[in-house]
Amino acid sequence: MAYELAPLPYDYAALEPFIDAETMHLHHDKHHQAYINNVNTALVNHPELASRPVDDLISDLNAIPEGIRTAVRNNGGGHSNHTMFWNIMGPVGSAGVGGAPTGDLASKINADFGDFETFKKTFNETTAKQFGSGWGWLVLDAGKLKVITTANQDSPLSQGLYPILGNDVWEHAYYLKYQNRRPDYLVAWWNVVNWNEVSKRFATAARK
Ligand code: MN
Repeated sequence: MAYELAPLPYDYAALEPFIDAETMHLHHDKHHQAYINNVNTALVNHPELASRPVDDLISDLNAIPEGIRTAVRNNGGGHSNHTMFWNIMGPVGSAGVGGAPTGDLASKINADFGDFETFKKTFNETTAKQFGSGWGWLVLDAGKLKVITTANQDSPLSQGLYPILGNDVWEHAYYLKYQNRRPDYLVAWWNVVNWNEVSKRFATAARK
């Protein structure tokens, strides 16, 4: 069964003014769709792989036949990363969106980074420095929260790390509104983070 693009869980304009509707249309309808089309094409002769969740495939890239491994890494990664990305954001002004996390995640951020502001600063600075296209991530590694980056559409899942939160710093994610100002986009992005969803992902990471 081929992978399909799920609709955005909110309106295209719901993240305004921090992420504009035109960027969301292009990013979701064109870029994410292209990753899905490409991974489906790569898997067309591998129905046993195509029937599995895409996260399973990129969690064990060595199990993917060599001839399609790069296509699955890039496009399966793109499908997985963007699926997470839409879901960890939410409409500006709704409960749990923007502001700061609460509960266990907040306590763990304070324990491992000092406080929430220091965490955000670390995330923004680390991710701003990712050379070229890629992602910034919050992961739980050996019991400690860490900020890492990956190039291209590489997923932390391929390193055995569950992504708690990730921000897309491909230019397609921000160029229409922020042009070359990636740091401004990184600062603005926290206004659309859905902490309810990120907290659920933290709980999942903590169980692994
Ligand atoms: Mn993207």
